[in-house]
Amino acid sequence: MSMGAVRKLARQILSLFYPKRCAFCGSVLKGDQAVCEKCAATLPFIRGEACPHCGRAREYCCCSGRGFGFDRCVAPLYYEGATRAGICRVKFHGKKGYITQLAELTADTVRREYAGIAFDAAVAVPMSRRELRSRGFNQSALFCRALCAELGIAFRGDLLQKPLDTRPQRSCKADQRWRNVSGVFTVRKPASVSGKTILLVDDIITTGATLNECAQVLKKAGAAHVCCAVIAAVRQKNARAVASAIN
Ligand SMILES: [Zn+2]
Ligand SMILES: [Zn+2]
Repeated sequence: MSMGAVRKLARQILSLFYPKRCAFCGSVLKGDQAVCEKCAATLPFIRGEACPHCGRAREYCCCSGRGFGFDRCVAPLYYEGATRAGICRVKFHGKKGYITQLAELTADTVRREYAGIAFDAAVAVPMSRRELRSRGFNQSALFCRALCAELGIAFRGDLLQKPLDTRPQRSCKADQRWRNVSGVFTVRKPASVSGKTILLVDDIITTGATLNECAQVLKKAGAAHVCCAVIAAVRQKNARAVASAIN
């Protein structure tokens, strides 16, 4: 029996006791669904040709091809409405049971957008010790682990670290976000990164400053490619204004 078949069977047995629920509305899911039918029809999925850098549809791209440290970023959804509520339930209300469903949804996007790329390892955007103590868990690490289980990629929670504390990015204005994370991440085992193709995982992308900073230290440690995957991308309403602030 393959690992995929074992996981599927384990999931089916588990679902007899704990029915899998939609991460966005809480309704019980059928069979292999990652999202319920109602949400599948109404969620703000990223459609059409995406920007090869930030993963948003062209009309909502605010990176204007900015020289990010990562090769690309992909996401299944925009961060708004039910998507936002679903991610906040995990992040701020500790509903960790929804992470598998969010990972299943994101895995579909990774398989499609990164078809043909063989990832050597996956890393999550790390938290500092203090941040970890205050939330109790790193949602990006849990999400990355679940995504790795879906995709059969090795999760390396030990490679990327955040020895320095920062203000939360969400409390910073767009132009402050780049400075806020500058120099705060380190690679612990450069030999495990050197020459490797890395999947870098976070929950959301806003300006791309955090993923950019992580990707830069991974590349400095010798990573050949760093491709990002997130659950959702913030859709910038005034994309042009944001772009001029960060460029
Ligand atoms: Zn739903
Ligand atoms: Zn873009």
